Amino acid sequence: MISKDLRISTAEYNIMKKKIAILGSTGSIGTQALEVINKLNDKFEVIAISAGNNINLLSKQIVEYKPEYVCVKTKEDCNTLNKKFPNVNVMFGDEGLLKIADLKEIDILLVAVSGKTGLIPTIRAIKNKKDIALANKETLVMAGDIVMSLARENNVKILPVDSEHSAIFQCINNEKNVKHLIITASGGPFLKSAYEEMEHADINETLSHPRWNMGKKITVDSATLMNKGLEVIEAHHLFNFKYEDIKVVIHPQSYVHSAVEYTDGSIIAQIGIPSMHIPIQYALTYPERYEGIETESFDFIKAGKLEFFKPDYEKFPSLKLAIEMGKKGGTCTVCMNAANEEAVFAFLDKKIKFLDIYKITKQISDNYISIPNPTIEQILDEDEKVRIQTKNLITKYKENI
Ligand code: NDP
Ligand code: MG
Repeated sequence: MISKDLRISTAEYNIMKKKIAILGSTGSIGTQALEVINKLNDKFEVIAISAGNNINLLSKQIVEYKPEYVCVKTKEDCNTLNKKFPNVNVMFGDEGLLKIADLKEIDILLVAVSGKTGLIPTIRAIKNKKDIALANKETLVMAGDIVMSLARENNVKILPVDSEHSAIFQCINNEKNVKHLIITASGGPFLKSAYEEMEHADINETLSHPRWNMGKKITVDSATLMNKGLEVIEAHHLFNFKYEDIKVVIHPQSYVHSAVEYTDGSIIAQIGIPSMHIPIQYALTYPERYEGIETESFDFIKAGKLEFFKPDYEKFPSLKLAIEMGKKGGTCTVCMNAANEEAVFAFLDKKIKFLDIYKITKQISDNYISIPNPTIEQILDEDEKVRIQTKNLITKYKENI
């Protein structure tokens, strides 16, 4: 029997729980994060969740996780949810996301929205000295210098959710003398396809990723290898590494999630089954580790042969383009990211062909004049400007399809 003095009340117990807000709770990362939280429900309390348009799933999440605050994209959906859940504070739009970033009670903000929507709320939460579990790579691709320097100034942790960056984060583990970062890539669905076959790649083929089940935008980026390019830029900012010291290696089995090479020649890699639950959980529980959803041990014998290849930059030129734009700096990555995103959406809307994604992104990037050391306002303006240019260019491609 427990003595009375050692018992803790529910209120005290809840104080000990980490209080979490999730931007993008209805997406691939968001839903998996809630699965992790469900498994570790004695360690977390969900204070706020947000969705874009999927209010059916969001409603189920409200019932299950009982957040105090909710945000949706439109005022209409906000009104619907307000009527349905009178005891929940329902907000909408970019303002609503900022209100979540302003909540005093949260300990950590998981940024799992896709696209540029994540940037401004992340900056606000950093200024409010909240730790960030960052899945949204666009935040660092668009404004990595600003975001990381704000994080340093405010003593805020940026905990990577992206599996490669979580791997590197674990391999570095606060040690110094790291010489190279080695980022692995599965190679996507067209790794073994001839270039000519990619000419006719349809949406279904492009979305059938061999290893990971993710949102559509990132899955298309994984097929062009643009995703790996975005990840190199992400790693450059997160770990403050020169582009020249970041290597990309194709590893189709996706068991080695990434590695670091130390100056003495030691290479430390993070290995495990390909599951996003693991990096999501580590970002949320850092620096602690707990038994999570994946309880089966990785079996080296079953895994068998692990392969590593040099990326084919000719066949996947998006990877090369992303690294080049990263090296140029300024707003070059803003331009490339916006052009690529619009082109990916156009491909998913069947307006352009698979290989047009690169051609359009390259053409827009080649004609772009970069702004050095941009402010956030300039970044958002450039993003908007490039999206308009890209949409115009897409119209011309559409006429040729
Ligand atoms: P999904 O498309 O599956 O989910 C995106 C989430 O963002 C959904 O909740 C969606 O809401 C919400 N959302 C989209 N647009 C808006 C908007 N304008 N306003 C408010 N909410 C919005 O994406 P993923 O989960 O795959 O990816 C999320 C981020 O994480 C991306 O930046 C991606 O690059 C990164 N990432 C993802 C990985 C993965 O395994 N999926 C791995 C590593 C990084 P709704 O669906 O309700 O419309
Ligand atoms: Mg990744």
